[in-house]
Amino acid sequence: MPVLIVGSIALDTVKTPAEEHADLLGGSASYASVAASFFTSAQLVGIVGSDFPQAHVDYFQSRQIDLEGLQKVAGESFRWSGEYMTDMNVRETRSVALNVFEHFTPHLPESYRQTPFVLLANIAPALQSHVLDQMARPRFVVVDTMDLWITIAKPDLLALLARVDLLILNDSEAKLLTDETNLIRAAEAIRGYGPQYVAIKKGEHGCLLFGDPAKQEFFSCPAFPLANLHDPTGAGDCFAGGLIGQLAREDTPEITFEQLKRAVVSGSVVASFNVEAFSLERLRTLEPKEVEDRYLEFGRISRF
Ligand code: AMP
Repeated sequence: MPVLIVGSIALDTVKTPAEEHADLLGGSASYASVAASFFTSAQLVGIVGSDFPQAHVDYFQSRQIDLEGLQKVAGESFRWSGEYMTDMNVRETRSVALNVFEHFTPHLPESYRQTPFVLLANIAPALQSHVLDQMARPRFVVVDTMDLWITIAKPDLLALLARVDLLILNDSEAKLLTDETNLIRAAEAIRGYGPQYVAIKKGEHGCLLFGDPAKQEFFSCPAFPLANLHDPTGAGDCFAGGLIGQLAREDTPEITFEQLKRAVVSGSVVASFNVEAFSLERLRTLEPKEVEDRYLEFGRISRF
């Protein structure tokens, strides 16, 4: 089964304590669709400007990513620049230039409207809702968000949450969204807004998956132990893309909590590879066998 992914497609400039690189392929939908492509075929919905390098388009195509939903318009592509501090968990946004993204309205080709698995990767929640407006009710909808939207577009985000199955966000965002300081209570509050499931990422400390507490639906996924982190950009997007890709690959009529656990591990596997190099460089050389091996390794490090 294919997955539909909407989000940003960007040219990023990223600075770490060791290196700086400009005009890298980035954006939430770029990372997520490449991550998903290790499990299934992806349909990409987004916008780029006339400056967007053909090499990046060719790369998406080499990953069998369907680009019928990619709009290419006159003007400059979305640009984002970020800097990581000595502690790479800390990042500052240096600049954002919306450019063609400012007037983006996602438009779904007819052939995408029945796609059963949907990832609304990080963009404004009103645009994420607009994608759902154009679809028959998908089987499973995953939404990713960020602190910016919780701060400036909370009503839009809450309206969207009533229509989705799984919300992915990090620990500080979960607290910001719910005004709770305890993650268990934050997850319960979020489930009250609509999503049956909540995945709370804790950076280098892994991820918690919450479902129905009455059924003991709780899973703690470790983070893969990595000594050399080169560029954390896009880890969250790869997590989301790997997760939805794995769900679509299994393609069952009902999604069970056991399946979601496997999907969370698959997302963590791709994210852990992605941070080993800048931009999407590590995923360019990643082999399916490496993905399988690290999936098993996750099992080994968390079993006792
Ligand atoms: P992450 O590291 O998971 O937060 O994702 C980083 C990616 O998000 C970068 O490649 C950026 O281009 C993209 N990005 C940053 N800010 C935004 C935004 N406001 N909306 C959509 N995408 C963004």
